[in-house]
Amino acid sequence: MSYKLFIPGPIAVSEKTLQAMAQPMIGHRSTDFVALYQSIQPQLQALFYTKDPVYISTSSAWGVMEGSLRNVVQKKVLCCMNGAFSDKWLDVAQRCGKPAGALKVEWGQPIDPGALRRELATGQYDALTLIHNETSCGCMSDLPALMAVIREFPDVISIIDTISSFSALPIKKDELGIDVMITGSQKALALPPGLSLFSPSKRALDRAASTKDRGYYFDFLEFQKNHENGMTPSTPVIPLIYALKSKLEDINAEGVETRYARHARLNQAVRDWAKAKGFTLFPKEGFGSVTLNCFNNNLGYDLSALNKILKSKHHLVIDGGYGKLKGKAFRISNMGDETDATIAGLIKALDSALAETPKLAAGA
Ligand SMILES: *Cc1c(COP(=O)(O)O)cnc(C)c1O
Repeated sequence: MSYKLFIPGPIAVSEKTLQAMAQPMIGHRSTDFVALYQSIQPQLQALFYTKDPVYISTSSAWGVMEGSLRNVVQKKVLCCMNGAFSDKWLDVAQRCGKPAGALKVEWGQPIDPGALRRELATGQYDALTLIHNETSCGCMSDLPALMAVIREFPDVISIIDTISSFSALPIKKDELGIDVMITGSQKALALPPGLSLFSPSKRALDRAASTKDRGYYFDFLEFQKNHENGMTPSTPVIPLIYALKSKLEDINAEGVETRYARHARLNQAVRDWAKAKGFTLFPKEGFGSVTLNCFNNNLGYDLSALNKILKSKHHLVIDGGYGKLKGKAFRISNMGDETDATIAGLIKALDSALAETPKLAAGA
């Protein structure tokens, strides 16, 4: 049975993108590959708002999230934590043997610039991890305000996860002073999973050059060396790079500003619908994500029953709550290729499915 994903990643992939993947293979050291790699670089740099290189990693985003720690942390990393992915990043730092501190707030609360300044002012840190858009709870922190604080501490290399926000709103890497900006393929880019894109600053590369035990697969210097020749360190997932090229054409055709406006409008449409139904937003007011919504299940619906109805009768799937929020909150993606029509269809399906979804006993 085929059904459409409205979970916040992976998301639905267009027929055009799928077709783009179905092309003959080329050698990854061939002139054809170099031409492919170099042809997409300018547009990637434009989307990252950077003059720095954008590297292509054959891995999910976590590969680069871990690799970044191994490349830039020498002293101690501060992990800003407000949801499942950012919580996990601390764990990953510790597993890499990196000294790590936590700036932790409740899931759904944004990272506070004042608290960040106080923590960085202790002088213990030479790196920081921060998730712009905490997908697990639909919370988007104020990145410009946080980057303004981070810029006060020039020894701190910032590793910024823009995995589920990239290309849905402008994130101006160079202007904000982001050192390592990371995204992945299966979120707003609406590609299949398996590709991660990242752009390091000169400062980040300099730091990497003096960092021991960077390993090989995610070594920034290996990426840079190969980038200069229009290649990747090891054999990349070429079908996904074809898909990326096709997606960049789509983005160009739509225009980025139109794309940003579309994400904002569709996000608001889902939020308006939920509010009218009586659902409340999980993240703090004013810090809701623009690529998904995470709502409290304050009306007490049986979310797994809801999803069964959505899947069997309406051929679509939403998310029934991430990790500890399972059953307590639900998430609906509006990222990627969604349109006014597809979101209207989703809302109609939700209305119809909710009407037959049982409620859980009070207190359950
Ligand atoms: C999806 C996601 C990740 C993890 O991506 P993988 O592709 O599973 O490695 C990390 N951070 C955020 C904010 C995400 O949304």
